Amino acid sequence: MRLSELKTGEKATIVKVLGHGGFRKRIVEMGFIRGQEVETMLNAPLQDPVKYKLMGYEVSLRHNEASMIEVVTEGEGRAVDATQKPPSVEAEEETGGHVEEKSPSNGKQMFTINIALVGNPNCGKTSLFNFASGAHERVGNYSGVTVDAKEGYASFEGYEFNIVDLPGTYSLSAYSPEELYVRKQIIDNTPDVIVNVLDSSNLERNLYLSTQLVDINLRIVGALNMYDEFEQRGDRLDEKVLGGLFGFPIVPTVFKTGKGVEQLFRTIIKVYEGEEQQARHVHLNHGKVLEKAISAIQTEIQKNDEIRYKYSTRYLAIKLLEGDGEARRIVGQLPNAQQIRETAEKEMTLIQKETGEDSETAIMDAKYGVIHGALQEAGYQQGNEGDIYETTHILDRIITHKYAGFPIFILLLYLMFQVTFTLGAYPMDWIDMGVGMLGDLIANTMSEGPLKDMLIDGVIGGVGAVIVFLPQILILYAFISFMEDSGYMARAAFIMDKLMHKMGLHGKSFIPLIMGFGCNVPAIMATRTIESRRSRLVTMLILPFMSCSARLPIYIMITATFFAVEYQSLVMISLYLIGILVAIVMSNIFCRILVRGEDTPFVMELPPYRFPTAKATLRHTWEKGKQYLRKMGGIILVASITVWCLGYFPHNEGLTEKQQQEQSYIGRIGKTIEPAFRMQGFDWKLDVGLIAGLGAKEIVASTMGVLYSGMEIDEDDEVGSRYDELRSAMEADGITPAVAFAYMVFVLLYFPCIAAIAAIKNESGSWKWAVFGAVYTTGVAWIVSALVYQIGILI
Ligand code: GDP
Ligand code: MG
Repeated sequence: MRLSELKTGEKATIVKVLGHGGFRKRIVEMGFIRGQEVETMLNAPLQDPVKYKLMGYEVSLRHNEASMIEVVTEGEGRAVDATQKPPSVEAEEETGGHVEEKSPSNGKQMFTINIALVGNPNCGKTSLFNFASGAHERVGNYSGVTVDAKEGYASFEGYEFNIVDLPGTYSLSAYSPEELYVRKQIIDNTPDVIVNVLDSSNLERNLYLSTQLVDINLRIVGALNMYDEFEQRGDRLDEKVLGGLFGFPIVPTVFKTGKGVEQLFRTIIKVYEGEEQQARHVHLNHGKVLEKAISAIQTEIQKNDEIRYKYSTRYLAIKLLEGDGEARRIVGQLPNAQQIRETAEKEMTLIQKETGEDSETAIMDAKYGVIHGALQEAGYQQGNEGDIYETTHILDRIITHKYAGFPIFILLLYLMFQVTFTLGAYPMDWIDMGVGMLGDLIANTMSEGPLKDMLIDGVIGGVGAVIVFLPQILILYAFISFMEDSGYMARAAFIMDKLMHKMGLHGKSFIPLIMGFGCNVPAIMATRTIESRRSRLVTMLILPFMSCSARLPIYIMITATFFAVEYQSLVMISLYLIGILVAIVMSNIFCRILVRGEDTPFVMELPPYRFPTAKATLRHTWEKGKQYLRKMGGIILVASITVWCLGYFPHNEGLTEKQQQEQSYIGRIGKTIEPAFRMQGFDWKLDVGLIAGLGAKEIVASTMGVLYSGMEIDEDDEVGSRYDELRSAMEADGITPAVAFAYMVFVLLYFPCIAAIAAIKNESGSWKWAVFGAVYTTGVAWIVSALVYQIGILI
């Protein structure tokens, strides 16, 4: 707990002092050292400040100062010891990922160090996070895979590490939502130690962020990552000297293999304990003109005592010179806001006059100057461009080639789907066989009754219809993971930029759109990396047309039922294409009617190609598979049973299966809405599937499984004949291939799923867009599928 929460008369032991360097130093100097006992004496009349007793003397602290001091009460201290293991991100953990076995507590108190991973995109933060915590976080080779802060835990030499993996950023300006987010995390959550991960193949740019971290005055440990490539290239650098200049220790690491992680952790502990000489507060020299301006503004800000607890005044002064909105807002609340602003403006004009540049550019130049100088002093020398870059350049010449680029891209997509469906068919049959056997087992052993019917037709029929698609979904995810991890996805975005632009979007929109083929929900979240709000919103709104894997079971089921083998791939691809086409049309419309203008340039890093480790690819694939299964265990199971109940009740003996379904609740609902889908040729059972699919689209397939299963069951049912059976059941209901295709189109386009709508609400920040997304997609689905059916019956 925080000292500010301690009630009058209570005692507690100090654990640590949070906040940036300057503030911490002052508080520590006053005697607030770890292990010291502190007692709350009394509150001032207005609750603030509070008098505390410490080391035999009494001091007064303001509420916001006290809230930066972490303490444990006696009872709490014991509780902490008893529950040694903090909750982990995942229930099951991969012990292999842990750096070290948890050391026995042997009565010693465990200390928790809060660590935030900060660095450019693709520098290896998530790799470290995964390695250290054993969490299954996604490692990707393009900017923006980590869109939210993920927390994980690790223990090392008696310390608990509480690690937060932040999204990658190039700087801490307020340019993109991510940068603002990282900045807020660093300043508001005041991690104990920042691990600044540096990609050693791009040091100069990576150090730019470091200069800003140094300005904030945080405790930093640098990780000189990708050291394997660094060595391979024959680069040279004295990281001790560099660390000395920047005021934080730098450790060479290879997060891909885990090399250097132990050393990094040891350094983190040393910095945390204040035993590391290299960790010291430095002022990076921005040059005479700028430094004069900075200190003038700083003096003005420092007249306010409170602000100093939370922010480094130097940092605020620099940010003001950069014209930073957030910094202006912060100082705007101060009593002398007027003077600060005037000082800042005066200094900015001065800078303009003396350097001939606006102050923001001047600061940037100065920072790069510092970096350049520091690197030179540290003897930085780039070796010959190693193998990695050579291959990257050759590969890029082919992959992004004017004529070859697109065919390669399309070929890869084709390959992906082809392998998914052909290779996936084998394990699918096995699972199908297993599901069938389980059904038979229950049919033969359980006594008759509603429960038996529910198990066989509801649970096994419903969930079974979906679980058979797991292999195909895993294969699809394996492909996507491989493309992401290798760096190909970034190239895909690169070559698609022009086309995307024609749609009024940004090349970066392409990544979420492709991810949407896996699952719309993370894809909608990934739109956060798009700087322009307009592009972000439009991308979100058209994303549901990207056919996610939840729709796959329905396609496979219906395609396999109604179309000959040689046409199946074609039908599938046509569905995906219809989705893309509709997305393009809608995007163009939106860009005309939604906010216009405001276009950010296409800046996206093309990282060198890296061959993904099999372990990482498998892990991501499995992660996705697990999500799929979890969805099935929960929402789909509930929906399957609900649908079964609706179809079973009211139950009358002596009716045929078909009669029973017609007079049941679900039949009545389906029939009520049947007229609405006359244009599409859907019958009531298909309508029921659509209603059931509102929760998650997988349910459409499982509902069809329930509704059509049990009709004319052959006792000697063979694997593969499942579709024949379904076809005869559906054909008996008058469903033609034209209806089937229109139905797939409707399923593709309508209301994505509850989770996706919630994601739109979160990312757009309002229900307005979520509701709009839900309604308009359904409208589009209605129109397009009606068109498809009407044209279909003409042919
Ligand atoms: P993040 O964006 O900072 O989270 O970076 P990731 O952890 O997603 O890593 C980006 C890519 O770099 C992945 O393909 C990793 O496998 C790879 N990578 C990470 N660390 C190293 C390293 O030390 N050496 C090499 N060669 N590759 C690495
Ligand atoms: Mg990451």
